[in-house]
Amino acid sequence: MFDAVIIEKNDGQQTASFRQIAQDQLPAGDVLVKVEWSTLNYKDALAITSKGPIVKSWPMVPGVDFSGTVVESRSSDFQPGDRVLLNGWGVGEKHWGGLAGLAQVSSEWLIALPAAFSSRQAMILGTAGYTAMLCVMALEKADVKPADGPVLVTGASGGVGSIAVMLLSELGYETVAVTGRMAEKDYLESLGASRVIGRELFTQKTRPLEKAEWAGAIDVVGGQVLASVCAAIRQRGAVAACGLAGSMDLPLTVAPFILRGVSLLGIDSALCPREQRIRAWDRLAGLIDVTRLEDVVSEYPLSQAIEAAHALMDGKTRGRILINVAG
Ligand code: NAP
Repeated sequence: MFDAVIIEKNDGQQTASFRQIAQDQLPAGDVLVKVEWSTLNYKDALAITSKGPIVKSWPMVPGVDFSGTVVESRSSDFQPGDRVLLNGWGVGEKHWGGLAGLAQVSSEWLIALPAAFSSRQAMILGTAGYTAMLCVMALEKADVKPADGPVLVTGASGGVGSIAVMLLSELGYETVAVTGRMAEKDYLESLGASRVIGRELFTQKTRPLEKAEWAGAIDVVGGQVLASVCAAIRQRGAVAACGLAGSMDLPLTVAPFILRGVSLLGIDSALCPREQRIRAWDRLAGLIDVTRLEDVVSEYPLSQAIEAAHALMDGKTRGRILINVAG
């Protein structure tokens, strides 16, 4: 038996509970992992509170990421005792995820924990940190260089945004943080933002092209904010778009693309190819001092993950939410 958060659906009603599950209930997979740490992402909170259509089959253990130790393996790629982590691949949506003492998954979804991180530190970064790194790598691939000019990060005080600020500034970019919470200005500057500007500058409808100010951008907000950012990107600049914290819409024209050669780069961390995710985690290990994020971590035991999910949905949490699964 092992402890788990489990989401069930009865008579059309979805409910989440914390209870013990028998090991023979685990879904198929060639590697069994003892989960040590998981995190609570926005997607997990939507699933647990039934506020979004995240779960695709029931019963479901939520948790889109986890770190832990291999207990049993039928794959030649992993041996018992190996330290591993997993992000995405539909765990917590279509396949049981990280908010449980044990996870049985495909070896193709796992990667080795980078030596630089403990299993707790890897989850402080979690899917947010890994996604921020993918965004930075996409800008680099689009040839946005520090010498080209300032780079924006929207939703900067959130999980993806704050780590994107750290990464860009570490790489020498002039990093401009866009936030709706100016109270976080000192925090954002401590992460490396050279300037912090208000979100309201990006929430009004813009002309198809605005003054070309930014060499690049990482956007987690979508909607009018992403549209306004695209309209103000310099010639041949690029925007990595990974989120919809503000809106799923995108009310923009083609002008930035056909007149300024701007690239809009989509980031899909969940189904990102394995080699690229290994590269992203290796680069995170080389660039990030995780201890600088300790101030924005709140930690809950697995037994309180459901309460934490409700708090997240009610806007009562801040920063990264770690779930201590192993206790
Ligand atoms: P988060 O910690 O909740 O941060 C989101 C930030 O966006 C907030 O801190 C806030 O920043 C800003 N924001 C929130 N509501 C807003 C609104 N209504 N209008 C404008 N800005 C708003 O979430 P996260 O973990 O960083 O994730 C951010 C987004 O990326 C989410 O949509 C998530 O689903 C998505 N995501 C996508 C991938 C992928 O692979 N594509 C991976 C991970 C996450 P300020 O207060 O600083 O403005």
